[in-house]
Amino acid sequence: MTMTTRYLKHHPDKDGWFGDYGGAFLPPQLERPFAEIAEAYARISRSAEFQSELAYIRRHFQGRPTPVHYCRNLSDALGGARIYLKREDLNHTGAHKLNHCMAEALLAKHMGKRRLIAETGAGQHGVALATAAAYFGLDCEIHMGEVDIDKEHPNVVRMKLLGATVVPVGFGGRTLKEAVDSAFQSYLKDPEGSIYAIGSVVGPHPFPMMVRDFQRIVGQEAREQFIDMTAGELPDHVVACVGGGSNAMGIFQGFIDDDDVALYGIEPLGRGTRLGEHSATVTYGHDGEIHGFRTLVLTDDDGQPAPVHSIASGLDYPGVGPEHAYLHKTGRVHYAAVDDAQTLQAFYRLSRDEGIIPALESAHAVAYAIRVAPELPGETILVNLSGRGDKDIDFVADNFGYGD
Ligand SMILES: *Cc1c(COP(=O)(O)O)cnc(C)c1O
Repeated sequence: MTMTTRYLKHHPDKDGWFGDYGGAFLPPQLERPFAEIAEAYARISRSAEFQSELAYIRRHFQGRPTPVHYCRNLSDALGGARIYLKREDLNHTGAHKLNHCMAEALLAKHMGKRRLIAETGAGQHGVALATAAAYFGLDCEIHMGEVDIDKEHPNVVRMKLLGATVVPVGFGGRTLKEAVDSAFQSYLKDPEGSIYAIGSVVGPHPFPMMVRDFQRIVGQEAREQFIDMTAGELPDHVVACVGGGSNAMGIFQGFIDDDDVALYGIEPLGRGTRLGEHSATVTYGHDGEIHGFRTLVLTDDDGQPAPVHSIASGLDYPGVGPEHAYLHKTGRVHYAAVDDAQTLQAFYRLSRDEGIIPALESAHAVAYAIRVAPELPGETILVNLSGRGDKDIDFVADNFGYGD
């Protein structure tokens, strides 16, 4: 076996802990449903039937394996490291999120559930889950703050076309946090018939582990492809953006036991280092609890989750997956932050130099590669390009123009 199993075997422990982080802090009514999901996951997801169904879906519906692309123009222009992209933007629906949504929905089907429930902020997770629900013939209920419904009109239309019910959330700040509360309320009413499909490597155990395992395909493919393209080398550096942290966890798993491969999680520094201006949770957060698990959290003076900002709405979460908090603490993964302006420059540059318009989320990772490449001649950087930028083009062109 590859050494990858060495790390996976011990992380998390049986109660869902990655060192001091993770666990499951649940209201009493949800303890049993979550334990059932953990039990079903352990049993069903390893079965040959589940594995072969998932492999079929990935190949014939999602379009996997996604390619690895060598950025010749960009690398030549920077004159340092060679930059490669793992093209998760080429997944059906345009991002890595379908990797775990299809698998969560397949698990729901095996468990005899009829309905998928989730919250969404910008709508990306909602669209991916609605797609999975349509594929499997399940009902889908997406909770979304009214503020986000106004802002993210095209994704609301997509979800409805895909047959999902979009539940507007009109209390409090009417954004992501309230959408989570509302979705949990709905799940509490029918935990037998539904599953709460979490959108990243966050939430109570077993979700951080499950979502990571479902995203692991990204790292497994990338490792083989990279070796193949370079006649036997591994990348020196692997870079991914971190919101909740699922795309990063996915690509990192391919290399986590290769001590010579340096891993980098890139967080959004937004407009600056002041609380409320960024969403760099690992960089500036403290140990705490959010949405039922223990991790690093950005908190205000009262200890409540702080308001956050990023130009990429998929990255603005005041917590982070517990495994990232753990890998930060052990030093296995390095975390750095890239601001809105650097992200925009990378968005324009990748579009012009390589013919690939990246999602603003993914552009954070590209920006980091562009920053460090000139100092790393002879080395290689593999970037996880988590999604495509079609959803961002109007926002960028209307507010910032076309780059020069
Ligand atoms: C949602 C999203 C992210 C952030 O999610 P992670 O769980 O941190 O990966 C990153 N990139 C894209 C394109 C997204 O849609």
